[in-house]
Amino acid sequence: MINTPKSKVSNKLKCSICHADIKERNKAYQSSLKLGIVCDLCKRRFSNEDIDMIINMFFAFGEYFGARDKSKFSIKDVIVEFAIDLDEGKANFHSQNIKLWHKVLTYGITPEEFLKELSLYVEQGFV
Ligand SMILES: [Zn+2]
Repeated sequence: MINTPKSKVSNKLKCSICHADIKERNKAYQSSLKLGIVCDLCKRRFSNEDIDMIINMFFAFGEYFGARDKSKFSIKDVIVEFAIDLDEGKANFHSQNIKLWHKVLTYGITPEEFLKELSLYVEQGFV
């Protein structure tokens, strides 16, 4: 006997940022760019401006918020990679900047958290 999976997936809404199932549609947020919808939690943790930027980014580069293990995130690695690519002229600042944010977000780190970590890192003198 063949078990055919019922295609329930198609009518389920998923958050464009973190891929969580959206159960309460009335609480979901439609981005101004109309590219996607965002769950209640993402709506609260990101500004409207960031939401548009983040949806665009995942649309272009794939993956999603929190796709990677947050505990494996290293701010040093991210910054070093950023600096090396720029130094070698592989990319311009703008595209490197987008790449950096995309990476940070896939680890489930919000812009606010990242900037806080970054300032701590700078204060410590890049150790
Ligand atoms: Zn979400």
